[in-house]
Amino acid sequence: MRIEAASPGRRLDAVKPAPSPPAPKREDIEAYAEATHALEATQDEVDRLEHTEAFETFQKQLGLLRKRLLASPQSLRQMFIDDGVQAIVWEFKQDALGADFTHVLWDLLLRDDAMSAVLQRFIWSVPLKFKRRFVAAIDAHLSERYPMFAGLSKDWPSGNFIPPYVRPAAQRKDDFELVTTGYLGYLSLGYSQREVDLIVWLEVLRDKQCEDRPCVHGITLANGKQKGGCPVAILIPDMLNLLGEGRFKDALKLIQSCNPLPNVTGRVCPQEHQCQGVCTMTGRPLEIGQLEWFLPERERLLAKDHPEEDEEAWKNYVNPWEGATKPPIAVVGSGPAGLINAYLLSTEGYPVTIFEAFHELGGVLRYGIPEFRLPNTLIDDTVSKIQRLGGKFVTNFVVGKTATLQNLKDAGFAKVFVGTGAGLPRFLSVPGEHLNGVMSANEFLTRVNLMQARLEDHETPLPFVKDKNIIIIGGGNTAMDAARTSKRLGGNVTIVYRRTRKEMPARVEELAHALEEEINLMVLRGPREFVSGGEHHVCHAVVEVMELGPPDKSGRRSPVPTGATETIPCDLVIMALGNDSNPIIKDSDSRIKTSRWGTIVLEHGAETALDDVYSGGDATRGGSTAINAAGDGKRAAEQIAHDLHLSAAEIADRVARAADYTAQAASPFTIVERRDIATGIVEITAKAPMIAKSARAGQFVRVLPEPKGELIPLTLADWDAKAGTITLVVQGVGSSSILINNMKPGDAFAGIAGPLGQPSKLHHYAKDETVVFCAGGVGLPPVYPIAREHLRMGNHVTLIAGFRTEGALFWVGAGERVEALQKEFGDQLEVIYCTNDGTFGLKGFVTMPLQAMMDAGKISNGRKVAEVIAIGPPLMMRGVSELTKKFAAPTVVSLNSIMVDATGMCGACMVPVVIEGKMVRKHACIDGPELDAHIIDWDKFLPRFQQFKAQEKASLARHGLN
Ligand code: FAD
Repeated sequence: MRIEAASPGRRLDAVKPAPSPPAPKREDIEAYAEATHALEATQDEVDRLEHTEAFETFQKQLGLLRKRLLASPQSLRQMFIDDGVQAIVWEFKQDALGADFTHVLWDLLLRDDAMSAVLQRFIWSVPLKFKRRFVAAIDAHLSERYPMFAGLSKDWPSGNFIPPYVRPAAQRKDDFELVTTGYLGYLSLGYSQREVDLIVWLEVLRDKQCEDRPCVHGITLANGKQKGGCPVAILIPDMLNLLGEGRFKDALKLIQSCNPLPNVTGRVCPQEHQCQGVCTMTGRPLEIGQLEWFLPERERLLAKDHPEEDEEAWKNYVNPWEGATKPPIAVVGSGPAGLINAYLLSTEGYPVTIFEAFHELGGVLRYGIPEFRLPNTLIDDTVSKIQRLGGKFVTNFVVGKTATLQNLKDAGFAKVFVGTGAGLPRFLSVPGEHLNGVMSANEFLTRVNLMQARLEDHETPLPFVKDKNIIIIGGGNTAMDAARTSKRLGGNVTIVYRRTRKEMPARVEELAHALEEEINLMVLRGPREFVSGGEHHVCHAVVEVMELGPPDKSGRRSPVPTGATETIPCDLVIMALGNDSNPIIKDSDSRIKTSRWGTIVLEHGAETALDDVYSGGDATRGGSTAINAAGDGKRAAEQIAHDLHLSAAEIADRVARAADYTAQAASPFTIVERRDIATGIVEITAKAPMIAKSARAGQFVRVLPEPKGELIPLTLADWDAKAGTITLVVQGVGSSSILINNMKPGDAFAGIAGPLGQPSKLHHYAKDETVVFCAGGVGLPPVYPIAREHLRMGNHVTLIAGFRTEGALFWVGAGERVEALQKEFGDQLEVIYCTNDGTFGLKGFVTMPLQAMMDAGKISNGRKVAEVIAIGPPLMMRGVSELTKKFAAPTVVSLNSIMVDATGMCGACMVPVVIEGKMVRKHACIDGPELDAHIIDWDKFLPRFQQFKAQEKASLARHGLN
């Protein structure tokens, strides 16, 4: 209740103190006498009135008011606020807002109190013409203090806005710091948090609160197709309404209820095709993406000052693994699809474990998108939120290899969500693609982003980029990221794209930023060939000049060769041509149905053909967007929660089993035994229970010795499923292998993933046949389990083990592995030793006894040579291959190539093979490691081992190991 309405004519400056009275004059004294007389008469009247009924009623009301104010001081403040607002209403009704008024009003808004909240609500609610008046006023009167307001009123609201802060190109192009710092970036220019809040609020003032909400639902085009909208259905107009009212925390809560990753998706979504693409502000759509990530980032900054609020919010939270009221869920892959799925299910009280193939979490968000676009701390934040909700993470766990989907179900997980992405890079299949200096963007970005190869104290090598000519093939976000990363590493970068700029699929902002950073763009050019300048390293690309033809299936005009070609000099070629699906999951369970592009097919909503297994994101769509992946993860979470109906007893049992399984899978890879078996060669046995359970002969593991180390492939020399251990034999040649060799029992590897690659293909052979193994040096450990498997199958085995010299022998003497096999299998195993210097066994290379067998008509000791399996130094394998090829003796080699992820994602382990006269790309990690030796183009393959020789040398020197 208000007892006195403010006069509508009262202006805000009327509340200022009155000026001092002038000096008394004669007339004034006369006037004073008159007034005294009048006052006395009035006093009589007052005395009379004080005894009237009306006065008594007024007194009572005053008493009541006093009581109310004492009980609720808030209402007093409200009175003043209401009063002030009335004054402001009056001002807004004038033709223009004056300078004084604008300054006072802005200062009131800056106060961030109840009054400023009322003012924000008021201005948000007034009709557009008044908002325009306000914006014109801040443009006219405040732009000296806020240069970003200058000119704002022109074409406001539809054609003008306050841009989020982007670091100038000259400042940012050499560092990996965030480029678009958004509205919060204004903090770095000295503006306060409140000023930044108001800048955001000003952007929101442009919103029209459209009833048909195209930003959420999209629009239907004339051809019936749907355009735009938000894949996770963020209630954008409602968010804007809350922001317009100044309710930032409520807006954040609302957005997070639709999308737990706003800090990520706000930065990387292609808003120009989604919410902003259909915004009715056609001139300059609202900065919805920027607002989306501003809110959580603002909260993050503010929460740092108030950690106690956070603690309070979690006080009574029951961890779903302890509450055990809902069945456990397994999530495979920690990209946006998996993270959202896990987050939402955890908030619903489901115990969740995320199994991730890499040693780090986040999927493409971490290994693909560089930190200058998306800081890793944001992924870490999301991960810790999920952990706080009870979610568990198991890294270095490759589903389909370490365990199958069925294994996870058997371990108690009631449902499994597969969010494994589409990690297999595409190539062009043009001549010269095998050359050193030609690599996929996945490999390049993984080396830089995931493995931090640009930092001196990290081990992973990087191709030389500084002052080199780098060409990037492609026009999507991956191409932009590879280009801008190369630029930051000092390269002279050119993006080569086969259509025109208009057709480029990259986010408009990323392309604009790339061009600002002085990256060259060469459009209507398609690579035809890469040419070496000697030493098997690329030196130039031959590109075809294109023109645009009719639209293709994507609706974009297709590139058509004109017949003309050009040559572009280059030292590094990075292919950013999109990704295909990784076959690991589908190959591990034939019940999963896949499309002809390899994507997982969904049968019932988000459920796959395999019961209780759901999927989404790039795994089902092929390369798409983070927000689509997030939307899929969200929908699958809703369906999973809806589909689950188990008894309390079954839930308790499943939770206990899944918890045990998770603990075992996450246990550290601790070294339990280590012995020097020859100079520079060490045998290490380490705990890896899940790998030991699944290991098969011929497979390998990917080892990360320590967090800043590099990922290196090592073939499994042995394993013991019962003891939960695996055995590796490591020759210290590079700094990473030397570091491993220096590890001691009790030390733990930062990660071991596996078993990887295809197991050996084992065939039954006749009694008069033999399988010949050629093991050169450290080729013996990988040969050992394969030979043992053949022996166990009943095949006869001839093992030719070659060493440099007697001093380099291992596993040979009494009680050693080879002798143990001889004891166990007797005549079924024949062993031939040779040393280069003849100090033990035959003098010469392993090819010598093999040559004798070939010359004898492919006969070894009376037995026909059924097949030859050669493992060892690449030159030895080539020697064996060339020898047996002449005799058409089936030969397999096991390739320990240069790899990064070792699951098909980087494409680094490319092996050029020739099939029916055509060059085909195979990858040692997914097609191998064993490949038909006779189809390998060894001339092209062997130089790939030299790719990082210079960097390895430098690393050895850095460690003082050379
Ligand atoms: P991913 O992010 O690929 O995550 C899959 C995860 O599963 C990975 O961590 C992987 O290691 C793991 N995994 C795979 N197989 C297994 C297995 N067998 N067992 C266990 N774990 C497994 N989109 C945008 O919207 N905006 C952008 O700006 C943008 N830029 C991009 C830049 C680059 C360089 C790339 C490569 C992509 C970009 N994208 C962008 C696409 C976007 O990142 C993807 O669409 C999105 O990450 C897909 O999410 P996802 O969860 O389905 O898969």
